[in-house]
Amino acid sequence: MTLILHRLPVPARLVDRGIDDLLVYRVPLTVRFRRIDVRDGLLLHGPAGWGETSPFWDYDAAESSAWLRAGLEGATSSLPDPLRDRIPVNATVPVVDPGQAHRIVASSGCATAKVKVADPRSRLSADCARLEAVRDALGPDGRIRIDANAAWTVDEAVAAIGELRRAAGELEYAEQPCPSVADLAAVRRRVDVPIAADESVRRAEDPLAVARAGAADLIIVKAQPLGGVRRALRVVEEAGLPAIVSSALDTGVGIGLAAHLAAALPRLDHACGLATTRLFTGDVTEASITPENGSIPVRRAEVDTSGVQTGDEELCARWAARLAEMMEALDA
Ligand SMILES: [Mg+2]
Repeated sequence: MTLILHRLPVPARLVDRGIDDLLVYRVPLTVRFRRIDVRDGLLLHGPAGWGETSPFWDYDAAESSAWLRAGLEGATSSLPDPLRDRIPVNATVPVVDPGQAHRIVASSGCATAKVKVADPRSRLSADCARLEAVRDALGPDGRIRIDANAAWTVDEAVAAIGELRRAAGELEYAEQPCPSVADLAAVRRRVDVPIAADESVRRAEDPLAVARAGAADLIIVKAQPLGGVRRALRVVEEAGLPAIVSSALDTGVGIGLAAHLAAALPRLDHACGLATTRLFTGDVTEASITPENGSIPVRRAEVDTSGVQTGDEELCARWAARLAEMMEALDA
């Protein structure tokens, strides 16, 4: 099974907003990631080009409506002027064995690797072994960051970060060790490794609470969950913390837009998490935005509509219903 694209009728409310084409995509991942094997979502076309709206299925209509706002922005609005034309990116290492982790990093061309840890399927010793393999692949000058996806308590985080740091040699930062802002702040006081907030920014009622509480040294920003490039840019400005732009496991369309967010940041000191099209077995764009020598170009993606098919009525019906819910929530 490879990438599939289907065309949906554009609802009147989206026609009114300037949308003239609407596609559903579905693409298998090369490796299980974020507990999914297949990625699917919507691509919206309008006067500015293509936008992407691909909230995960466990997100409700209210949360997903920010992703629709981002898709509409991509299709209908101009983007902020880029301050750079390439964005350094990190390799992403899922919960895989050390041999595979080594291969992913060595073949990436990236000088920075983000390693998933604290997965329920993995143990701390396995996480350490994965980090040792990544350090071996990167060499002493490479940067390694870990992402725990809010899996730890404060005490677990303090203990695990110490061990993982020893295994990695050095850690650039630890991303979202615990779920709550208060716990992030507590961990930050107890470890030397910088703390980055991800879920506490993009899934929070108030994306600035982390910055106000002094709970993080850096923030991860994602264009789709924050309602688009311009809204995400405003969050970074108001937070006043260094930011790393990351993908929401987008296709090349979302990656191209996220690259414009990274390109518009006044300061960009860290590699961004925008090399994730490597996790897809195919892409929707004519020329996929894949990293070369550890960076991606800042450009928007054009969707290759030559492969649009008909047939998967269940997938189309699911997305049509979800889109209706997102539109309701957006207008509410
Ligand atoms: Mg994360």
